[in-house]
Amino acid sequence: MWQQAKGQKKQRAVWIVETILGKSLPKGAVVHHVNEDESDDRKENLVVCQDQGLHNIIHGRIKAFKACGNARWKPCRHCHQYSDPSLLIKNGSSHYHQKCATEYQRHFKRSRQDENIYQSSL
Ligand SMILES: [Zn+2]
Ligand SMILES: [Zn+2]
Repeated sequence: MWQQAKGQKKQRAVWIVETILGKSLPKGAVVHHVNEDESDDRKENLVVCQDQGLHNIIHGRIKAFKACGNARWKPCRHCHQYSDPSLLIKNGSSHYHQKCATEYQRHFKRSRQDENIYQSSL
C-alpha cells in the first residue's frame, strides 16, 4: 500500500487517513491540518475536506478567526475590516458594508462627473 504511494501526487496526509479509515477517500478530497502544520500528521490533527473549495472555506475561517476572533465573520471588500455577516451585504463570494459601498459609489460617480465636466469643457 505504501509502495503505491510513491510517485503519486497525493497528499501524504490523505494516505494516512485512508490507512486509518481502511478505504479510499473520494477523488478530490483534501486533508486539512487542524494546527496548520502540514508535517503534523497525527490522527487528531487531520480533517478530511470533500474538496479544495471546502478546504479554502476552512482556511478563510481560520484567517477570520485570527484577524478578529470570530471564524464566521467576513472581510469587507472595500475597507477590509472583518464584520458580522448580518451587517454585510453579500454579493457572490464577496461581502461589503452598505456604508462602504455607498462611499465607493459616491467616489466613483464623482470621478465620473469630473470626467464629464472635463470633457464638456473641451
Ligand atoms: Zn488546510
Ligand atoms: Zn467596509
